[in-house]
Amino acid sequence: MTLLEVRDLRTWFPVKKGLFSPVKYVKAVDGISFTLEKGEVLAVIGESGSGKTTLGRTILRLVKPTSGKIVFEGRDITNIPESELRWYRFSTAMVFQDPFSSLNPYHTVQYILEEPLILRGVPPKERAELVVKALEEVRLVPPEDFLKKYPHMLSGGQRQRVGIARALITRPKFVVADEPVSMLDVSIRAEILSLMRSLQSKYGITMMYITHDIATAKYIADKILVMYAGKMVEYGPFRDVIKNPLHPYTQALIEALPDPDPANRFKIRKVPPGEPPSLINPPSGCRFHPRCPYVIKGKCEKEEPPLKEVKRGHYVACWLY
Ligand code: SF4
Repeated sequence: MTLLEVRDLRTWFPVKKGLFSPVKYVKAVDGISFTLEKGEVLAVIGESGSGKTTLGRTILRLVKPTSGKIVFEGRDITNIPESELRWYRFSTAMVFQDPFSSLNPYHTVQYILEEPLILRGVPPKERAELVVKALEEVRLVPPEDFLKKYPHMLSGGQRQRVGIARALITRPKFVVADEPVSMLDVSIRAEILSLMRSLQSKYGITMMYITHDIATAKYIADKILVMYAGKMVEYGPFRDVIKNPLHPYTQALIEALPDPDPANRFKIRKVPPGEPPSLINPPSGCRFHPRCPYVIKGKCEKEEPPLKEVKRGHYVACWLY
């Protein structure tokens, strides 16, 4: 059953330098389409500035889309006013990148977890039980040791466990996790992602996992969407894309992964030169063409490649296919 459908979504931010200068747009999200079945996890991968966080925030309607369509459980929520979004707010949640700044430093762990339940009118006795259960589920045990603590009394990993517990305590149908482990020590990233995966599958939550690190997606993702400069360049089942990446940018992201085999430490990697482009004035044609080792002269810099289904469910936007 399809939970979320996103069609040709665009989020552009106007920028004006001087009083008489023309308005330009930062095209942070520029024509993204995908569907998510109930209980699926989509990893959205891209370098910083690729538009992935704006995509997540737009889908949650924290940012207003410029055009396109967001359909959640069969209801078009793209342009409905905030006053009619209450049910959607109650069906969705977000896990933030920085577990310290996303938790109110003046509130105890108990209140941080109770707050979303108070907003939903859950009675005090039930709230207390749900808070204890949530702490147990994120393995902050015994819960009594954590209830009266403030965020500064916890380690980074413990804070992010509280962040996950807060996002999931209301049993949302859809969660956006925006770089949830990038600020944590490498040694605990896999553990936190495995915890998220087990809770996600236990409660059948549909999830969007946003990251710049394609290596971490393997712990959690069913599907993958690769973004470059606001555009989707590749999309498909996670295993297919990782085993057989088609777009030169996806290939470069995979090439850049650290190789654990010491015998390969001097291997030359095909990492594309240069930086991601400005989203105000992106390159013409294929936005990746200034960095692409396979650029087709006279075509790639002029014509934008359409997203094409190359294998069943595996899409790529590149003139090589
Ligand atoms: Fe490279 Fe051309 Fe494909 Fe873009 S369309 S990724 S420039 S080969």
